[in-house]
Amino acid sequence: MSETNDLSYIYENARLNKDATFDGLFFTAVKTTKIYCRPTCPARRPNRNNVCYFHSAAEAEKNGYRPCLTCKPENSPFNYSFSSEQLYRTLKLLNSGTLKPNQPLADRLMAPEDTIHSQFSTILGVSVAEYSNTQKRLLAKKLIDETTLKAHDIAIQCGYNSLQALKDDLQKTYKNKNRLIQKLQQRENNSNSEANKAIRLKLAYRPPYNWNGVLNYLQQRIITGVEHIDATSYYRTFCIANSVGHFNISHLYKENSLLLEIQMDKPLAIPEIIDRVQHQFDLFANPKLIYRVFKDDNKLQSLIKNNQGVRVPGCWDGYELSIRAIAGQQVSVQAASTVTSQIAAEFGETVAINSELKYLFPSPEKLASAQPECFSMPRARAQSIIDFSQAIVDGKIAMDSVQSASLFIDSIQKIKGIGPWTANYIAMRHLKYIDAFPQADLGLLKALNLSGKNGKKHLLEYASHWKPFRSYATFLLWNSLAP
Ligand SMILES: [Zn+2]
Repeated sequence: MSETNDLSYIYENARLNKDATFDGLFFTAVKTTKIYCRPTCPARRPNRNNVCYFHSAAEAEKNGYRPCLTCKPENSPFNYSFSSEQLYRTLKLLNSGTLKPNQPLADRLMAPEDTIHSQFSTILGVSVAEYSNTQKRLLAKKLIDETTLKAHDIAIQCGYNSLQALKDDLQKTYKNKNRLIQKLQQRENNSNSEANKAIRLKLAYRPPYNWNGVLNYLQQRIITGVEHIDATSYYRTFCIANSVGHFNISHLYKENSLLLEIQMDKPLAIPEIIDRVQHQFDLFANPKLIYRVFKDDNKLQSLIKNNQGVRVPGCWDGYELSIRAIAGQQVSVQAASTVTSQIAAEFGETVAINSELKYLFPSPEKLASAQPECFSMPRARAQSIIDFSQAIVDGKIAMDSVQSASLFIDSIQKIKGIGPWTANYIAMRHLKYIDAFPQADLGLLKALNLSGKNGKKHLLEYASHWKPFRSYATFLLWNSLAP
């Protein structure tokens, strides 16, 4: 980015103050050493004349800079604070670990390929390929540094065709005989690499982070047997890429990070697991900016002041969340948890990891073939669950988390028994678009004392002040209505 940009003054201050609230929003590149750093780098601060700023690691690497070994830019939370939903979806797809090799972005984003690419490079200053290649390399660096995974597994998990391809990339980009290649070599030579050990990874966020708020929210909605929460951690079972596992998450307060510990049969889909957890715990939020946008707003100022570091909890799995949301219509939050836990116990595959984690959440195929009388709820609601599951099996509803929010909301409302509030709620937590906004929502109209013919129009106008964080405003207002 240009140093004459107005932002350079803000970044200069953030760098000098080692301000963690800017982590991942920009990187400082040191011209003399050709190293790029996070704003929080503990190393001695270089002279102003020797630094320039970039908005992404990819932009820094494109300009010939290497990641700092001290502050580890690969650990910065991604920046998703963009008003454009399409750009958000593109970034999310690239970071999701679910894009197949050579798959056109248009296949998943349902927009013209050239439009996606030109918007991306115009706003981010790098091409899609440059961005993806940097993220792939940085993830490999993180896995080499933080896990005991086998060298070959790291290469394949990060999307390289072979271990040699990863080594070549590290050699070409970071030049000289770097320590990452040496570490890979050592691990290759040690054939007893500890494949069965837990994979432990630190996932950073921009502070503050209302950990207790997130944990409480998830606790109230827990699916017993599939999830478990104690005083310090969240635990759950999962099945991904046909590999069964479980993970737990705890808070590393002093490091502005969560600690993810994964146990699974085979180390598969690691980038996807990381991405899903980051969205589930909303690690990409920009709380400083959210606070600045909301703090003077008549409707939101008291809510944000009482909930600094607010996060909109996402979900591990969109289908599971949807079933819980449908089952929870017209009953209390606690009753919804009870009935969803019953569904998991009745239909979920037993995994018996320990006395708390006993089932995988059932698949759409399983619930699509169930009979309505097997559910402890009114028959019409049970039928909605069956119909929703069948629509997924038939391909009529897609649960792809990078799809357009409006198309998703329209598609699930075609199921009898799924109304606009449920559809918007699922979209907000599953798709995680930060500016998602249910403009006709009765709850929001009530929270803002709006009604009548012009209520919805006023709501939309008023909410324009909350851009691009309208999902956070919605979340705060919905919670303010909770009994
Ligand atoms: Zn550094």
